[in-house]
Amino acid sequence: MCESFLDMEKNTVLVGVQWGDEGKGKVVDVLADQFDIVARYQGGANAGHTVVVDGKKFILQLIPSGILRPGKIAVIGNGVVLDPEALFCEVEAIERAGIQVGDRLRISDRSHLILPYHRMHEQAAEAARGDDKIGTTSKGIGPSYEDKASRRGLRCCDLRDARIFREKCKRALLEKNRYAAAFSGEVIADADQLIESYWSQARRIVPFLVNTADYLNREMDRGKTVLFEGAQGTLLDLDHGTYPFVTSSSAAAGGACTGAGVGPTRIGAVIGVSKAYTTRVGSGPFPTEVEGQGAELLRERGGEYGAVTGRPRRCGWFDVPAARYSSRLNHLSALIITKLDILDHLAEIPVGVEYQLNGHTLTEFPAEAETLERVETRYKMLPGWQQSTFGLRDYAQLPQKARDYLQFISDQVEVEIAMISTGPGREQTIWMENCEWMKQTALKQQ
Ligand code: GDP
Repeated sequence: MCESFLDMEKNTVLVGVQWGDEGKGKVVDVLADQFDIVARYQGGANAGHTVVVDGKKFILQLIPSGILRPGKIAVIGNGVVLDPEALFCEVEAIERAGIQVGDRLRISDRSHLILPYHRMHEQAAEAARGDDKIGTTSKGIGPSYEDKASRRGLRCCDLRDARIFREKCKRALLEKNRYAAAFSGEVIADADQLIESYWSQARRIVPFLVNTADYLNREMDRGKTVLFEGAQGTLLDLDHGTYPFVTSSSAAAGGACTGAGVGPTRIGAVIGVSKAYTTRVGSGPFPTEVEGQGAELLRERGGEYGAVTGRPRRCGWFDVPAARYSSRLNHLSALIITKLDILDHLAEIPVGVEYQLNGHTLTEFPAEAETLERVETRYKMLPGWQQSTFGLRDYAQLPQKARDYLQFISDQVEVEIAMISTGPGREQTIWMENCEWMKQTALKQQ
């Protein structure tokens, strides 16, 4: 049992409100200090959080960014799909930078593995879609989730026994080779060769494996607090996002329960992270998208290039209907706004406040991507502040027009703002003292 109401309240899910890349990596790094454990609950090595600590840049794709805080425990939950090669690349990069991972990393023995054939499958599937590409990272994440759902996946626990791993791998590959031969006349891979090349690397995971659901629940029983870190964003959630231009897992807050193995009543708060504007990587509807020079300026100022792929991100204005939809879905306790400083140069800032279709205002966020592609967005023009907010740490230092902009967003989305990020560094953060959630959880300002 949790020791007090406050402890329960403190277990928090942090989710992206938009299409990912909201700056969650930095925010988790800032908040991690106030929690004992940071746990990832979905996705794979496609998340690409960029975190800057003491001027050093870390790109974390798989390991929760809490690992960068000494003494904090990082958990990769059962809802994550894991590529051993990507994992150890990341562990080595973190250790090269002088941060010891050691026994601070726990990996769920139930999490599914990504095998080389998953990458081949995804590359072939994306190529076959021609102009209809989803725009995935082609890291085998989607196909690994497909195998999980069709019950032919290999899990990390299978690495504990060479015979079991070999048998399961051969069985999976037999089936895949049969399909591949029927479609293209070629097989995907030779089982013996694949097992040989994969096994020695993948086996290194075994010392990190535990039943993370049990671990997290036991630690919470002892009064330890957990920050659940969502990857991607709510609008990329498999069920609730802009399907089919979504990711293959449950990125919304609800995913924390299944993806980490904790009951809903253990979670006290859900915090949404949003940029002060919007970006999207890959294909799919984007109602507030800006084209041309306006987009170019946001992209350059915001460094909007994929952390994993280097692809230029599509850029646009803050989208109220989308943020409201996300807020409702996650039942947000508070909002964190990042990258406010990227808007510093603008004389006027459009905010998308309403979608219209055939002259009518939409009252709901549409289910069909085709409808969302067709909506016309109505904008409210807000005055820009045209002075630097970069690195500010105190709300009182913000120009009045920047405060008005933030207040407008908060009022429209109907969620209080708990924190504003004004730069990539930890300290470039404004904490909102009066936010109810901050008071309730007794978070300390740094
Ligand atoms: P994530 O996947 O949600 O963590 O987002 P990314 O890491 O892909 O993108 C966020 C990028 O913006 C990173 O390069 C961060 O260092 C940077 N960043 C985060 N917050 C701020 C901010 O408030 N201002 C500026 N200028 N950069 C920020």
